Amino acid sequence: MNFQYWQPDIEKMPRAELETLQLQKLKEEVRFALRTSFYRSRFEAAGIKSPDDITSLNDLAKIPFTTKNDLRDGFPYGFLSIPKEAVVRLHASSGTTGIPTTIYFNRDDIKQWANYMARCMFGTGCTKSDVFQNMIGYGLFTGGLGMHQGGEEMGMLVIPAGAGNTNRQFKLMQDFGTTVVHATPSFLLHVETKMQEAGVKRESLSIKKAFAGAEPYSEDTRRRIESLLHVDVYNSYGLSEMNGPGVAFECQCKDGLHIWEDGYIAEIINPDTLEPVKDGEIGELVLTILCREATPIFRYRTRDLTAFYTEPCPCGRTHRRLRRITGRSDDMLIINGVNVFPSQIEEVLMGMKEVGNNYLIVVEKDGALDRLTVKTEIGPDIFMDDARPLNALKEKIKETIQASISISPRVELHEGGSLPISEGKAVRVQDTRPKDI
Ligand code: ADP
Ligand code: ZN
Repeated sequence: MNFQYWQPDIEKMPRAELETLQLQKLKEEVRFALRTSFYRSRFEAAGIKSPDDITSLNDLAKIPFTTKNDLRDGFPYGFLSIPKEAVVRLHASSGTTGIPTTIYFNRDDIKQWANYMARCMFGTGCTKSDVFQNMIGYGLFTGGLGMHQGGEEMGMLVIPAGAGNTNRQFKLMQDFGTTVVHATPSFLLHVETKMQEAGVKRESLSIKKAFAGAEPYSEDTRRRIESLLHVDVYNSYGLSEMNGPGVAFECQCKDGLHIWEDGYIAEIINPDTLEPVKDGEIGELVLTILCREATPIFRYRTRDLTAFYTEPCPCGRTHRRLRRITGRSDDMLIINGVNVFPSQIEEVLMGMKEVGNNYLIVVEKDGALDRLTVKTEIGPDIFMDDARPLNALKEKIKETIQASISISPRVELHEGGSLPISEGKAVRVQDTRPKDI
């Protein structure tokens, strides 16, 4: 394979040099953070009074974790480390799990972010002649502007299409010869369903690549999008606390996401003991940003579950790879005492070719017990009025899910394109059980 690198000297930097660079940038971030009262008091308690108290990367462990609640408590300006007149933009998390958190940028922070994003895109083989249609929400959400400015930095022609409205998306693709798209994986599947409905021929489109991220999805979903849309799908990971997209991205090998270690220090911990897991084991990703002055954040507990690859990547990049994020530690459902991750159900559904592109998991109380219902769309080759194949499919889904999670669900089948689709991140679970307080 012909690999291409946006910044070869940094992307292939020997580990020892990379770690020296990390240490230098970490000290710089400590200097920025000491301007905020939150970190000043945290650092003082940890015996860190100046950047010089950090002499090796091991000193990071002295700094306590930062949680989403810390960021919320600091709302709105508690984590801002520069005068307001030097701030040029703010972004906020999409608030999937509660009150949003706010991040500020100065001009240089934005430039650095665009550079990381360009590095990600170039690393998938994009060139300046690509036409990039960004089919994700603009605004406070970081996926829109984050990807947009990276595409421009790389020199692609960027179409700021925004989310939703598939007919308009098809028109833009056809008018301008779009070659690369960015969307959530659920929207990409929806695009395919709508293509069928609208009678848009694949041959009328020039798309070759899709960046898919902002929500968890399985390898089966990737394969499904690739085979339905005839594109290469690259996994894109980021979170607004760490700027947004551009934190970790797949290279042309499509096997694990390189985390840019000159911009972030990644740790993986056991969420219960808070100790680091053994190399290669799954745990919670903890991130420290090294590429932003206006809002320094140390050892942020992402709640995202992943593991480091232990082998180097054939592409030659020295920055470590993360496994596909399967979900957040707080995504886990406990159904009649059994732990279930929505991603386990997704894997079963998206692996069956008779199943359509959208699904919904419903958990409710049924007397003293919990009841799990899986609602899923059917594929274009099955018809709603044909009882025999429908019942056979229902049975098959039920048995395969039971084999995977040890719970037998109720299964409801719906016509393709009929289950609700959200414009932002997909809402996959409806849990109507009363919450214990
Ligand atoms: P919120 O935390 O409100 O959802 P963000 O927009 O910052 O706000 O979302 C970041 C989160 O989205 C990540 O922490 C992760 O849980 C999820 N996410 C982003 N990209 C991916 C991906 N490629 N795979 C799995 N999950 C992802
Ligand atoms: Zn690689």
